[in-house]
Amino acid sequence: SVILAIESSCDETSVAICNNGKITANVIANQTIHQNYGGVIPELASRVHQQNIVPVIQQALIDAKVSKKDINAVAFTRGPGLLGSLLVGVSFAKSFALALNLPLISVNHMHAHILAHFIDDPKPTFPFLCLTVSGGHTQIVLVKDYFDMEIVGQSLDDAAGEAFDKTAKILNLPYPGGPLIDQHAKHGNPLAFKFPEPQIKNLDYSFSGLKTAILYFIRAQEKENPDFIAENLDDICASVQHSIVHILLNKLKKAAALYQIKDIAIAGGVSANTGLRTALAEKATELNWNVYIPAFEYCTDNAAMIAIAGHYKYINKEFVGQDIAPASRMEF
Ligand code: ATP
Ligand code: MG
Ligand code: FE
Repeated sequence: SVILAIESSCDETSVAICNNGKITANVIANQTIHQNYGGVIPELASRVHQQNIVPVIQQALIDAKVSKKDINAVAFTRGPGLLGSLLVGVSFAKSFALALNLPLISVNHMHAHILAHFIDDPKPTFPFLCLTVSGGHTQIVLVKDYFDMEIVGQSLDDAAGEAFDKTAKILNLPYPGGPLIDQHAKHGNPLAFKFPEPQIKNLDYSFSGLKTAILYFIRAQEKENPDFIAENLDDICASVQHSIVHILLNKLKKAAALYQIKDIAIAGGVSANTGLRTALAEKATELNWNVYIPAFEYCTDNAAMIAIAGHYKYINKEFVGQDIAPASRMEF
């Protein structure tokens, strides 16, 4: 089966094509317009999706060397995400499917981040634990089957990606700051500065306190030395990254022990982080885990993960009707 998949939940317009479980195209149009605003501006994001969607579809068809008549189903991200952004992808998917008389497949974006692990080998075996760390979510998920997943821990406030992006904003770095913190951290000392670890029960997380602690720390240091950020940027980034990674892995370790699971995956944009990937690999050796780390292009938002989710739903003939609507918040 040939599945065309559309992702438009935030600020990436992406279209992928999956041919019998193999990804043959994954075109991603990033939006640079938000850089100067310190975050995604929903109205602008929606407008840019409208401009990008047709050329991105056309490029995907070219890359996959297929024509419209070869497609068997259209998969799309229904949610969660920005409503105006989702609306562009969902409306396009519906029109496309209607025009070509194709079945429609609705995909949950957070399921798809996890199912990105089924694009390339080695694929994890069920059950496994997945730490999904993205711009809007931080979740420890017990994955029992492709669409049988349970959130066993999550952030009570900011997501891990938000902690990176908000710290970057404090450091006057452009949006999204996560990748930039990662770059600077490579040249810094992770133990230069220490930030308090949140005391949260069970397998849940909290990152808003860390952001505030960093803000107060920077402001205090700047009183003594106005050039504190510029002179210590690498060390600050390395220390912040170290704190976030430490918090993330502590709860993941707890979850692995509680559920007695040694197959551990990470997913979402923050799983591209070098510090997290390295620390996880170390934990794997220490605790005998089999770890699964996605290829870089499948960490941040992409339609390949929507296509692979669509592939498994297509096998089950799990289709939706033309009355489907986007959902900014969506039950997991
Ligand atoms: P969600 O999936 O929760 O709806 P989203 O789709 O916006 O949110 P993703 O695209 O999965 O999120 O991830 C984007 C986030 O990943 C941003 O917060 C970005 O800063 C962060 N990120 C990307 N690369 C890195 C990196 N190398 N280090 C740290 N953070 C990173
Ligand atoms: Mg994005
Ligand atoms: Fe995402």
